[in-house]
Amino acid sequence: MQPRFIPQTPAVCGLFLLALGTVQIAAEERARPLVIAHRGASAYLPEHTLPAKALAYGMGADFLEQDVVLTRDGHPIVTHDIHLDRVTDVAERFPDRARDDKRFYAVDFTLEEIRSLQVRERTTANPRKAVYPDRFPLRRSRFSLHTLAEEIEFIQGLNQSTGRNVGIYTEIKQPKWHREQGFDISRVVIQTLKKYGYVDQNSAAFLQCFDVQELQRIHQELDCQLRLVQLLALPDVVRADNGEFRVDGGKMNMVTLAAYAAGIGPDFLLLRHDFGPKGRWSDLVNQAHAAGMVVHPYTLRADQLPAGVADFETLVKQLVTDGQVDGFFTDHPDRAYQTVVR
Ligand code: CA
Repeated sequence: MQPRFIPQTPAVCGLFLLALGTVQIAAEERARPLVIAHRGASAYLPEHTLPAKALAYGMGADFLEQDVVLTRDGHPIVTHDIHLDRVTDVAERFPDRARDDKRFYAVDFTLEEIRSLQVRERTTANPRKAVYPDRFPLRRSRFSLHTLAEEIEFIQGLNQSTGRNVGIYTEIKQPKWHREQGFDISRVVIQTLKKYGYVDQNSAAFLQCFDVQELQRIHQELDCQLRLVQLLALPDVVRADNGEFRVDGGKMNMVTLAAYAAGIGPDFLLLRHDFGPKGRWSDLVNQAHAAGMVVHPYTLRADQLPAGVADFETLVKQLVTDGQVDGFFTDHPDRAYQTVVR
């Protein structure tokens, strides 16, 4: 059984929470579910910007997520896609730098060029419209991309100035693709985390990836002692005749995943068949817990609720109380925090 992260009683909850009179959890209470800020407080500010991370921090998140890709000059930067065109003005700024598929890849741009881009809310491809139209408006204010090191320094700086110990939850994006471009992204990310003191299971850090082989390589070949989280997408998980949940083309089950992973990060839709009153829970959490792993599903959003759920708070309570999850990714760390500390 891996040691569980015990969320600290926050010394400073931020004005936002103090204004709401949030009750701080007592230290002796059992570990409450972790609130993992998905790309920052991304329901309120453009994802993976430092303002979105600051807001998530102030809203009481236990961990802040970083998705990492590499630049042409090999710097790890924090952004969700290997492409830049859905969240920046790269197509307007560098119109002749797309590949044949008309996409603009981070790995084709230097860090200096990427720093010069304006970040905005995520858009669809054509027409270019906001994916979540009620979130932060497009083309307002000024936001930019930053490196993994800069984000870690930002979080560690806040940890010093507030006395809290908010962790990092870093995802390695598309390692196979990066290898095809000539980069070992896992090695780069692990080196950066190590430089900032994230080295083992006691570190306030999780390292996540969808790629089963790559996480095994990180554990064995790269000898990474951090807590690894195997992300699981809906179509990649199958249920065998004996009831076991299997992944990686049916080759792995929860027991074999637990040989290298401290936890799983499943799509939350894998945890329950129908979130309405007639739905029932799948056995995935039980199987993962029996194997000694924690379960941190993604992604709970107030503006993208599953059918049959009245509101965000109901969904959180369902997953935490009945679903027995150990934490969850959310775009709304404020509402998640307020729900789990009650
Ligand atoms: Ca992610």
